Amino acid sequence: MQFSDNQYQIQGLDVLEICQKFDTPLYIYDSSKILDKIATLQKAFQGIRCKFKYAAKALTNLSILQIFKKKGVGLDVVSIQEAQMGILAGYAPHEILFTPNGVAIEEIQEAVKLGLVINIDNISILEQFGSLYGSQVPCCIRFNPHIMAGGNSKISVGHIDSKFGISVLQARHVLRVVKAYDIRINGLHMHTGSDILDAEVFLRGAEIIFDLAKDFQDLEFIDLGSGFKVAYKPGDVITDVEELGQKIGAAFRQFCHQYGKEVELWFEPGKFFVSEAGYFLVNVNVIKQTPATIFAGVNSGFNHLIRPMFYDSYHEIINVSNPQGPLRVYSVVGYICETDTFAADRKLNEVREGDILAFKNAGAYGFMMSSNYNSRFRPAEVLIENGEVRLIRRRETMEDLLRNQIFEKETVPIAESNA
Ligand SMILES: *Cc1c(COP(=O)(O)O)cnc(C)c1O
Repeated sequence: MQFSDNQYQIQGLDVLEICQKFDTPLYIYDSSKILDKIATLQKAFQGIRCKFKYAAKALTNLSILQIFKKKGVGLDVVSIQEAQMGILAGYAPHEILFTPNGVAIEEIQEAVKLGLVINIDNISILEQFGSLYGSQVPCCIRFNPHIMAGGNSKISVGHIDSKFGISVLQARHVLRVVKAYDIRINGLHMHTGSDILDAEVFLRGAEIIFDLAKDFQDLEFIDLGSGFKVAYKPGDVITDVEELGQKIGAAFRQFCHQYGKEVELWFEPGKFFVSEAGYFLVNVNVIKQTPATIFAGVNSGFNHLIRPMFYDSYHEIINVSNPQGPLRVYSVVGYICETDTFAADRKLNEVREGDILAFKNAGAYGFMMSSNYNSRFRPAEVLIENGEVRLIRRRETMEDLLRNQIFEKETVPIAESNA
């Protein structure tokens, strides 16, 4: 979002006009930001056989998936339904890596039927997989290297208490199972969680995986997951992908040399690709001055953007409709009937009732984690592509809320009612 000609614009379009046209609350995605991120990663890892698999759960709208498809980025999915979305968006099943956690063997069987690349994250399922398919269907193994990473305990998945992956300490057990069932292991995987700060942590994980790889002869790829940190506020430390590309690239080349085969290196970022591309636009319903603070109450809540309440995440806020107003301090709150704070003690250009506020970094885990709590409609989503804006998901209606309810209205005789 850029400020020029006295207005906030995305790809040259006036953001306020978009809000008027599509109404708020509204998710707006800027395709050019996604393309930038794809180009940045491709550049950072050029010169090695590298593939990117977009972690679709961050933002699964079909029109967004299509952007990745067109750019040759694969998909990483965590459920059969996400895989089906990917296929609808034009992906071939073999371009989709299926990385679920804790699913039943039946869901894995469905994934095999669809033709996805299978990633298994526990020994029990690996044994069942082996007895079903033997050497017929290859699979990847998700290891947990137990390196500490991640910005928030709810999203760090590499630690010793984590439920994700098979512990590297169980590698010998894995090898026994693989041998007993003659399973063909085509990939090794790790994903240590969001918000890894530096290349060193990645490298440590990578070295552990490279070391394990020596025991597997049929590898086609090594997947180092995600965890690319993005900036949420000015001054945030972000992953230096160029440095990462150089360091990982060098370590990977050396690994391939030792392994005796050119395997592929995969990454599966979600947030990195789409976070900055998304803005969440809301209208200010009410300004409430209390003895302690000034609340700006907006026409949304954690039912639409749960990250601040759930992860304590920081989202920069812009007053789009009063860009020149004097700065004042606000608590921006939602309309949900329990604590529902988007931001506390925020300096914003003076906020008036009817103003439009934009939350930045709303592309990843924004709409996707939205709900109908308080029986509110989920927002519409629009995409700006090639300088044009288009609706990619309609705002919900009463019909959506009632769709699956089974209900027969009782006719109460008038005499018996208290009315
Ligand atoms: C969620 C997830 C990702 C993406 O994580 P980000 O922090 O959004 O980059 C990657 N891989 C797997 C297996 C995931 O579950």
